[in-house]
Amino acid sequence: MIFAIEIRGVVQGVGFRPFIYNLAASSGLKGQVSNNGYGVLILLDATREKVDGFIRQIRQNKPPLSEIDSIKITQIKKTKSFEGFSIQISKSAKLLSSKIPSDIAMCEECESELSDKTNRRFEYPFITCTNCGPRYSIIKNLPYDRKNTSMDEFIMCKKCEAEYKNPQDRRYHAQPIGCHECGPALSLYESNGKKIESENIIDEVVQTIADGRIVAIKGIGGYHLVCDASNDSAVELLRERKRRPSKPFGVMVKDIDTSKHLAYISEKEEALLNSNRRPIVLLQKRDDYALSRYVAPNISQIGLFLAYTPLHYLILQKLERPIVATSANISDEPLCRTYDEIMGLSSVWDCCLEHNREIVNGCDDSVAFVENEKIFMLREARGYAPLYLKLLHKTDKKILSLGANQKSTVAITIEDSVVLSPYIGDLGSLSSVEHFKSHIETLKRIYDFTPDVVVCDKHPNYESTKYAKELKAQNEVIELVQVQHHYAHILATMGVEGIASKVLGVSFDGTGYGDDGNLWGGEFFVCDNSSYKRVGQFKYFRLIGGERAIKEPRRVALSFLFEIYGDEAFKLNNQTINSFSSSEIKTLYTVWKNGLNSPLSSSCGRLFDAVASLLDIVQICSYEGESGLLLESLYDENITEYYEFGVQDFEIDFSQIAKQILVEKDVHVAVSKFFNTIVEIIYDMYKKYDLPLVLSGGVFQNRVLLRLIMRKIPDVILPEMFVANDAAIAYGQAIAALNLKTL
Ligand SMILES: [Zn+2]
Ligand SMILES: [Zn+2]
Repeated sequence: MIFAIEIRGVVQGVGFRPFIYNLAASSGLKGQVSNNGYGVLILLDATREKVDGFIRQIRQNKPPLSEIDSIKITQIKKTKSFEGFSIQISKSAKLLSSKIPSDIAMCEECESELSDKTNRRFEYPFITCTNCGPRYSIIKNLPYDRKNTSMDEFIMCKKCEAEYKNPQDRRYHAQPIGCHECGPALSLYESNGKKIESENIIDEVVQTIADGRIVAIKGIGGYHLVCDASNDSAVELLRERKRRPSKPFGVMVKDIDTSKHLAYISEKEEALLNSNRRPIVLLQKRDDYALSRYVAPNISQIGLFLAYTPLHYLILQKLERPIVATSANISDEPLCRTYDEIMGLSSVWDCCLEHNREIVNGCDDSVAFVENEKIFMLREARGYAPLYLKLLHKTDKKILSLGANQKSTVAITIEDSVVLSPYIGDLGSLSSVEHFKSHIETLKRIYDFTPDVVVCDKHPNYESTKYAKELKAQNEVIELVQVQHHYAHILATMGVEGIASKVLGVSFDGTGYGDDGNLWGGEFFVCDNSSYKRVGQFKYFRLIGGERAIKEPRRVALSFLFEIYGDEAFKLNNQTINSFSSSEIKTLYTVWKNGLNSPLSSSCGRLFDAVASLLDIVQICSYEGESGLLLESLYDENITEYYEFGVQDFEIDFSQIAKQILVEKDVHVAVSKFFNTIVEIIYDMYKKYDLPLVLSGGVFQNRVLLRLIMRKIPDVILPEMFVANDAAIAYGQAIAALNLKTL
C-alpha cells in the first residue's frame, strides 16, 4: 500500500527532507519525499502500522528549526513501486501556504568550523548549514530551493556540490551553501565608491573601526552602521553624521560573557539573547558599564545583541570590543538593502564592507525585552519574520491589510492564518512608500496572492490609506474596508491570545484617527471581534501646532497650562513657559484659544510628554518615545501614592492631575505618582466593567507601566511575543475585516 503524508508548517529550508530520508533509510522503508507549495509530501510504500510508527518518530525527532502545524495521511492507488527511498526535486503547486523559515543565527557547529584552521571553511564569512543562515532575506519564491533564492547565481564547486547532494551530510540541501572557492565574497569600498584592494578585508575593517571611524557593513537583511562602542569620539561622530543626537544605539557583542560586563541579565534574558533568533534585547545597564556615554545617554537601559552571522563574529573576535551596530537608514525610514541605497548614506560612513549575495527581502534587527518573565517585542523582524499569526477560523477571503503609517507592516490572510511582513519603518517619504509596496509585492509573489479585500486605517492622510484607495480605484471589484486605529490595536492583542469574546480594551498610544475625526490615543472600549463601543477616554486637549506638538512636549504642557490658568499662564515662572519667548507664548495662546491648527486629542502618549515638560525633564524630543524612557528612569518603586482623578461623562480630565504635579516639590515623587495614577485609572475602569482586560498601543511598551499593571491586575491580557505598537495594526485590521458587522 502507498500512503501520502502531507506535512505543513515550517518544514522547508530547515533540513526536513534529509531528516525524513535518513529516518526512512534507517527503518528500511521505501518511498520518496519532496517539497511542494504546502510543505513536505512523503510517499511511503508500507503498512498503516509502519506509517503510524514513522509519524511518531517524525514528531519526536524533527529538526530543531522545524515546526509542524498538521500531518495529513491519505492512502493512494499503487501505480509505481519504489527501489529504495529518495528525495525528489521540488514541484511548485498553485496554491501556496507553506511557511517561509526565518533568518537564523550561525549555529555552534558552523562556529567551530569557522575557527578551525584545518577546515576548508576556516574564516569563511558566509559559512552556513541546514540548521543556520539566511532564509527569508534571500528567498524570491516558494518552494524554498536554491534556484528560488539569491544563491542561484553562485555555481557550487565540486566539494560543496558533493555535500549538498549527500543526504548524510549536515549541509545536505542547505540552499545557501558555499565556500571560499564558490560562494559569496567580500569587497570593500571608500565612501567615494572607489574599491579598496586588500589582502585581508576583515583585518582592514577591524583596523578602521579600531581607528575610531565608521563602517557600513552589509549583513543578513540590510546594512548596519558600525563603530567602536567604547570610543566617545567615534560614537559622537556617528551621532553627528547621522543627525541623531540622543536616540539610543544598539550594541553588538561577541558572546554572552561580554554582554554580562555591560548589563544585568536574567536567565530569561540570557536565553533570549542566545536564541537562534538573536534579537536586540533591552537590558538594565550595569553600574560599572564601560561603554561610551554617548551610546544610550540619560537612560538606564541598553540594547544588546550577540553576533549572529559569521561575518559579525569574525570582526568582533578580532576587534575584541563591542561595536555600535545601528540600522543604516535615514531616521525611521526603511533599512538600506542595496549598494545604491547605502551609497545614498556615504556621507555617514568612511568605508563600506560589501558582499555579493543579494538581499531580496529587507529585514531589520528585531528588538525585544523581558518584563515579569514575559517576552515583549518592540520590533518583529529578522529571526521572526515573516510571522504567521492565527485566525480563529478558516477563510476563503483573500485579505490584504496595509497597517498604519508609522512602524508600518503589511499582512495577507491564507486559510486560517495571517502572514505578517517584518517591520518596514515609517512611511514618511517616497522611498519608504516604495519599500512598503515592495513588501506587498513580495507577499503577493511568494504566495501567488491576489486580494479581494483591502483593509486600511481610517486616517485619510496615511500613505497606506491612500494606497488602499488606489488599489480600489484600479480594480472596482476589490472590497475596501477601513478600520479604526485603536480598535485594530485591541483586536491584534486579542488575536495573538486567541480571544474573540467581549473584553474591556485599553488602547493608549501616540495618536490615531478617531471615529469623530479627532486624534484618539487614550481610549477604553467594550468590544469583541465584531464590534466596539468607546466607553471612556482622556478629556480632549489641544495639540498646539498639530504635528509640531508631537515632537515638542512643551506644547502639550502649554495646552494644559492655558486650560488651567488662561492668559494668566503668561505670568507663571515655570520651565514650560520659560522655554518659549514671551511673544511666542502670546501667539500660541491665540492659536490655542481659536483652535487654529490645534487638533483635539485624547492621546495618553502625549500626557507622558506633558508631564516630562512640566517637570522640565525634556522640552523638545529628539526621538519618538524619549519622554517615556526618561520618565521610566526616574520612577521610584517606594512611592506608592497616586494623584486624585475624576471620571466624568466617560472622561478623565488630565488638567486636574497636571495641577497636582505643578505643586509637587520632588521630581521622582511626581513621576512615580504619575505612573501610579495611570495604573489606578485603568484599574478603576477594570473594576467598573468586570470584563477581561486587554491592552495595546505604544504606551504599553513602557516597562515601568507594564510592570505596575501586571502587579496590580495579574490576569491582564498583553501581546506576549508580539508588539503593542503600530506594527500590530495590520494584523488587527485583518481580524476586523473578517468579522466586523458594521463599520
Ligand atoms: Zn550551521
Ligand atoms: Zn564551494
